[in-house]
Amino acid sequence: MIELEEAQRILLEQVPVGPTVSLKLRDAAGCRLAKAIGCDMDYPPFARSVMDGYAVKAADVAKAPVELRVAGQVPAGLDSSLVLKAGEAIQINTGAPIPDGADAVVRVEITKLSDDGSHVEILESVPEGKFITERATYARAGDVVLEAGAILSPMNMAVAATAGAAEVCVYKKPTAAFLVTGDELVDVDAQPRGAQIRNSNEYLLASLLKADGLDAKSLGVAGDDPAELRRKMEAGCEQGVLITTGGISMGAFDFVPRILEELGAEMLVHKIAIKPGRPTIVARMPGGAWVFALPGNPLSALVGYELMVRPALSRMQGGDGKAAREMQAICDGELSAVRDRQTFIPAVVRVNDDGAWAVRLLSWFGSGDAVGAANANALIHRPAHAAAVTRGDIVSVMLLPHSMDV
Ligand code: AMP
Ligand code: MG
Repeated sequence: MIELEEAQRILLEQVPVGPTVSLKLRDAAGCRLAKAIGCDMDYPPFARSVMDGYAVKAADVAKAPVELRVAGQVPAGLDSSLVLKAGEAIQINTGAPIPDGADAVVRVEITKLSDDGSHVEILESVPEGKFITERATYARAGDVVLEAGAILSPMNMAVAATAGAAEVCVYKKPTAAFLVTGDELVDVDAQPRGAQIRNSNEYLLASLLKADGLDAKSLGVAGDDPAELRRKMEAGCEQGVLITTGGISMGAFDFVPRILEELGAEMLVHKIAIKPGRPTIVARMPGGAWVFALPGNPLSALVGYELMVRPALSRMQGGDGKAAREMQAICDGELSAVRDRQTFIPAVVRVNDDGAWAVRLLSWFGSGDAVGAANANALIHRPAHAAAVTRGDIVSVMLLPHSMDV
């Protein structure tokens, strides 16, 4: 058994970064940039109006109110050849190019158009440059607008599109497969009989991987049968990343570690001093595939995913390979002292009425209890040997990034 920090260090050291791939921008949402994006031109490309109103010479409206002749109109998208002369105004729309000769825009709300539309009264003066965005205010041609390592978040997709990055160089999303094991498992639409239980982990893993942007392949359920398990695990390894749950404890039917060894796995992490999640395995296969064998209980599998799988997937995609940063929150209840393993407890964090993070404990019966963890959006992280917590104490919490409803 190794400490969590040691397991995380091994992960960071061993998991390779890359490969990278060139994608059309529209296919790259959520990917991490492997190369910086520079703006391909001055942006905005021309001086443009911020408002609907009239392009004027500031000097002409220095004394307001004043009447100007309406010399034409420039809608957005029209590259007009109109030139503004002294004593004139040109009707202009938001985003339209500023006509030559104009040096300010008066917004329509402080103007009065004559009945025949030939003249406009400007009711207030405006300084030079008012409501004009000059060319290249946002970026000059060649300016880096997104550094390598940036994630193509929705905002950054807009940045990349603005910069003309039709193709982007990103870290490739790993391909992955997942497999749950156990003779006792039945699917959601079946009624468990006798010693059966429902297969919750397949749904847990499928949605974790989907939320992490991976198009992962489900290999379904493998029974506790070494031959079947081995066959399915070999198939899973072909995807490059395989995540399994169950079959790694000390039971007579826990075949996964033995099969990994038969397949020549290098067991980089095997048993971590955490609760739940102790039996977690990280292995590298001879063909280069990565196997994350997580324990069978749903909360153990979730903890293993958050601490090992997501960091590894992030590392492969150029991320820092670290587990989610933790924050401090006020605990609303009592927790007992911790023994020798770092402990993770599902909980709900919210912003309280004072604007501080507060954590609500759940009525939860341990790692097998998915029901008790309903609505959990965080894991309280307690250090080994931590003292008991009483209501109002501060605890560390790790957010479950895809479960936030704060
Ligand atoms: P194992 O590691 O296979 O001994 O499993 C540990 C516990 O997790 C047992 O109580 C299993 O019944 C339970 N378990 C295993 N796989 C699943 C699953 N897919 N969904 C829900 N519980 C599971
Ligand atoms: Mg089992």
